Amino acid sequence: MKMDDKEKFDDTELDTSVSEQEAEVQKDDDNDYEDICYICRRPESKAGKMIKIPSNICICSDCMQKTFDSMNHTGFPMGDFGNMNGMPNISLVNLSDLQNMNMVPKSQKLKKKKPKEDKKAAPVLDIKSIPAPHKIKASLDEYVVGQEKAKKVMSVAVYNHYKRIACDNLDGIEIEKSNMLMVGPTGSGKTYMVKTLAKLLDVPLAIADATSLTEAGYIGDDIESVVSKLLAAADNDVERAEHGIIFIDEIDKIAKKKNTNQRDVSGESVQQGMLKLLEGAEIEVPVGANSKNAMVPMVTVNTKDILFICGGAFPDLEGIIKERLNKHSSMGFQADLKDKYDKEENLLHQVAVEDIRKYGMIPEFLGRLPIIFALDALSEDMLVRILEEPKNAIIKQYKKLLAMDEVKLEFEPEALRAIARKAKKKDVGARALRAIIEEFMLDIMYEIPKDDNIGTVTITEDYIENKGGPVIAMRGCPELEDNSTASTAGV
Ligand code: ADP
Repeated sequence: MKMDDKEKFDDTELDTSVSEQEAEVQKDDDNDYEDICYICRRPESKAGKMIKIPSNICICSDCMQKTFDSMNHTGFPMGDFGNMNGMPNISLVNLSDLQNMNMVPKSQKLKKKKPKEDKKAAPVLDIKSIPAPHKIKASLDEYVVGQEKAKKVMSVAVYNHYKRIACDNLDGIEIEKSNMLMVGPTGSGKTYMVKTLAKLLDVPLAIADATSLTEAGYIGDDIESVVSKLLAAADNDVERAEHGIIFIDEIDKIAKKKNTNQRDVSGESVQQGMLKLLEGAEIEVPVGANSKNAMVPMVTVNTKDILFICGGAFPDLEGIIKERLNKHSSMGFQADLKDKYDKEENLLHQVAVEDIRKYGMIPEFLGRLPIIFALDALSEDMLVRILEEPKNAIIKQYKKLLAMDEVKLEFEPEALRAIARKAKKKDVGARALRAIIEEFMLDIMYEIPKDDNIGTVTITEDYIENKGGPVIAMRGCPELEDNSTASTAGV
């Protein structure tokens, strides 16, 4: 095996087939390998600095400590490492057996990860040069349909956030954090907007579900685990993580429970627990693991420059908003009709802090999310646009897939409307679109590659309504390919 071939191996793969000759060559580049603890088998990158003992054996400090602790418990006299075998609770090999070996075999070493080559394209928006809000919004426009107000608010908030990080506080004026709270029905694009934003800015993003969080010590993820997720998303680069975004979904599910005498470990306590995180605190998080334990190294991440975005559907919030608006308008001389707001669409846009507080979020929590805005419920028209307009629209994805088989895929406008109509009925926003299309595309994707002669497939409204099939046109028949005399095939 040549050295070149060896390079192709996965970096983390244990190299078990090193011939003697290669061992010679590799002596020189010993630095390419990590030391591995002889007891727990963890590499240096996980277990931390190794303690080297004679015979080229390495032991991590955790195992060394455990060994000493056990010896103290048993009253065993410390001193000779070679005689530790057979002690209770210690699974040590007799190290004296290894005296004759010159070195730990290479098969026990783990090749160090090479620094990744930077093959990534430059980010669309560079946070170092702090893109202006209109540029952020223009980039969002390419992916997110509608939601004009939300895109505008978000662009300005992100702009201010990164300006805040860049400026100094020497003049004593400290800019407040632009943490956000998004209110919008399910499937309206809350997560999608945050994901798109993080991708455009090329910052790490962690998405957590508030329902899985519990007060520390209870079953569930403890609140600080979200920072740990962010660190993982930033490839354990603390500095990158500290400029990242944390999105906490389903935040309405941690509203204060009404009339309860029990300890509210997944509601109000989680809100309380999140306060210091939202504001900015030094959090100790385990590297490369979800739980803290003695074996995992810890790092400190400061959350003061992390942008927190919370999102929730807040069902029934409209009722609370309506109640407040009615109360205002039914007082004084200009008292209005009580049902004035009943028919108002997108009442959520009139959301105020007091409504959310009434919903069950505690004032301290809301105080740390100064930017509150709502997303529109998706209309049928918006759903049609979502199908075909965004840069990575579902329709474009399917067209690309079929183009690889040299088949042209067309959708009649009425077919798109029929899909949107079906999706709207499901009441889960744009999320239903993919499921519906997938159902119809399955047969097409299965059948089309069978016949090389197929040139064009047109999805019709009838096909979506289960009243007919798609229109198939054969390759090399121009009169057929323009659909005028195309055959209808039940796929
Ligand atoms: P939620 O508001 O429940 O977080 P998501 O952001 O997960 O909803 O939306 C589900 C999917 O619907 C997204 O992955 C995205 O493809 C699509 N989607 C939703 N809203 C929009 C929109 N306004 N523009 C483009 N795609 C959207």
